[in-house]
Amino acid sequence: MEHSLAGKTALVTGAASGIGKAIALLYAQHGANVLVSDIDAEKGQVVVEQIKGMDVQSHFVLADVGDPAECQRLVHDVVNRYGRLDIACNNAGIGGELNTVADYSLEGWQKIININLNSVFYCLKYQLAQMVKQGHGAIVNMASILGQVGTPNSPGYVAAKHAVVGLTQTAALENASKGIRINAVGPAYIDTPLLTALPYEARQQLINLHPIGRLGKAEEVAELVLWLSSDKASFVTGSYYPIDGGYLAQ
Ligand code: NAD
Repeated sequence: MEHSLAGKTALVTGAASGIGKAIALLYAQHGANVLVSDIDAEKGQVVVEQIKGMDVQSHFVLADVGDPAECQRLVHDVVNRYGRLDIACNNAGIGGELNTVADYSLEGWQKIININLNSVFYCLKYQLAQMVKQGHGAIVNMASILGQVGTPNSPGYVAAKHAVVGLTQTAALENASKGIRINAVGPAYIDTPLLTALPYEARQQLINLHPIGRLGKAEEVAELVLWLSSDKASFVTGSYYPIDGGYLAQ
């Protein structure tokens, strides 16, 4: 195993499940100490125990990324424990209400914008303050193919993910000369707990959207995030990388 992140400290939000869990485990396999954060302490602790078996350090920190004070505390926690923050993956997110623009509830809109967009701004704000002090860092924000195209009945999710791409580009431009790279990834439909509750028919319909003929795997997304987080991607910033089984090529 190549240890491309040896000695680095990484923070992953939403790391108790799905894509975030796969990213936390892959970071650790590549030598990083990983701070696992989530609102689900029980599942988060399971990930920490898995990582501790890999000869790197790991801790769980309970934090709701929809609360700016918790995002600030989270970054302080990483720095207090490990002395610095080299890598951050702002991954936590929800699917939100399924409804048309006309019927979408005001509460549903506030919630999805808060958890899927405001959270990325809060995390970036405090992560960047630390990374500017250090003079280096790499951040990957979790967008979606729905950060590039629309889909019916998910206006809040689509709007939030489009905004995450724009926020990523802006933050990247502001920090490109400071040794900090910021990128976004855009998975198509990935087989995680976010989707496993779907009825068989709905799942088949999603599979049919991908020319490759299946849903993606969390581990496949993690490989792209690992590369963007590592020094191998040293000339990559402000970019949005779809990982979509051909979805956007149609
Ligand atoms: P998941 O439900 O398996 O994992 C999401 C994790 O985020 C959970 O552990 C959950 O507890 C945590 N979380 C939710 N709200 C939180 C909050 N307020 N604060 C902190 N943690 C919170 O989902 P996933 O499929 O792994 O999704 C991860 C990210 O990938 C999300 O941003 C999602 O929008 C994005 N994404 C997923 C897919 C997909 O098809 N699964 C596709 C594109 C993008």
